[in-house]
Amino acid sequence: MVCIIYIYMECVQELLNKNIEHNKTINQLYVQITTLQTEIKKNNKQIWDKCDHKWKRDELAMWDDKCKYICSNCLLYKNKSYYT
Ligand SMILES: [Zn+2]
Repeated sequence: MVCIIYIYMECVQELLNKNIEHNKTINQLYVQITTLQTEIKKNNKQIWDKCDHKWKRDELAMWDDKCKYICSNCLLYKNKSYYT
């Protein structure tokens, strides 16, 4: 009986350790996602200023979307406030 309990606890501990590692990985990925989102935002600011925009109607825009035009070169919306 003691042996069965010991094996059970060992199994639980193994699963707990796996979850600790998974949570560490998830946290690292969150940091990576945040870093990449920040870089994309920074790049979009530069793209907005440097692109020779050619505005076209966004075919996917809905009637209540605030901006209905995108640039056919850089795919940014025709609203600088989105990128400041
Ligand atoms: Zn553009």
